[in-house]
Amino acid sequence: MIRAIPFKKIKWPTLCAISLVHLGVLFAPWTFSWKALFACFFLYWLTGCLGITLGYHRLFTHRSFESPKLVTYPLAIAAALAGQGGPLSWIANHRKHHQFADKSGDPHSPRDGFFWSHMGWLFKRSEMDSPEIYRKYAPDLDRDRFFRFLDRTHWVFVLLLAAALYAWGGFPLLIWGISVRMVLLYHSTWFVNSATHRWGYRTFKVNDDSRNLWWVSLLAFGEGWHNNHHAFQSSARHGLRWWEFDPTYLTIRFLALFGLAKQIKVAAA
Ligand SMILES: [Zn+2]
Ligand SMILES: [Zn+2]
Repeated sequence: MIRAIPFKKIKWPTLCAISLVHLGVLFAPWTFSWKALFACFFLYWLTGCLGITLGYHRLFTHRSFESPKLVTYPLAIAAALAGQGGPLSWIANHRKHHQFADKSGDPHSPRDGFFWSHMGWLFKRSEMDSPEIYRKYAPDLDRDRFFRFLDRTHWVFVLLLAAALYAWGGFPLLIWGISVRMVLLYHSTWFVNSATHRWGYRTFKVNDDSRNLWWVSLLAFGEGWHNNHHAFQSSARHGLRWWEFDPTYLTIRFLALFGLAKQIKVAAA
């Protein structure tokens, strides 16, 4: 099922930017080099594992551990470089997802269509795009001037990175470091909203459709253990069984060795 978006409600800047990034992937076969591939994977890890998963999700949205500003601000910038929006909008939407998971009010439930939950919802203007909603769902971040600044300027950081990559390695690095890397990460993150609310196994009986799906976890640094996550939302550890590999949690433990992650909450499952 594809849920139609009324023409007047389409978020054109988002639609154009995400389409442009996808179009860039068409140039990937002709611009391949080992240097470009390395830049792609390094930035995928930096913006995906450290930025989105560890920063936006486990730290800022769920406060599953605490870190000094020396760590949290760079993490937020790394997340902004993923091109998934600023911290206030990302975190407000995700908190609302947990509040209404798979019910009316969930910004992206596959019950409204798989495509809608995967990416369709991103292109529709909604009441979620307002400072009042940010203050309601992310008051802790909204109080911090840095996060408000980053929320307005997140796309500038992506452009600066694109310019730096172009200056360093020309068109090939631009294609692999921006387009290929961002498209891979987009769909990995989006599969957490779509696939892990539809396929996989359920360890815990929760009041929504969340599931544990190994291949999404591999792509998204442990985020595929989504049924565990919905059951224990403030747990820094999502992979709870021995086979549930969770590199983001291992990274949090690594930060803890240096005192850069404290008060780590872990599900007692
Ligand atoms: Zn969450
Ligand atoms: Zn979910």
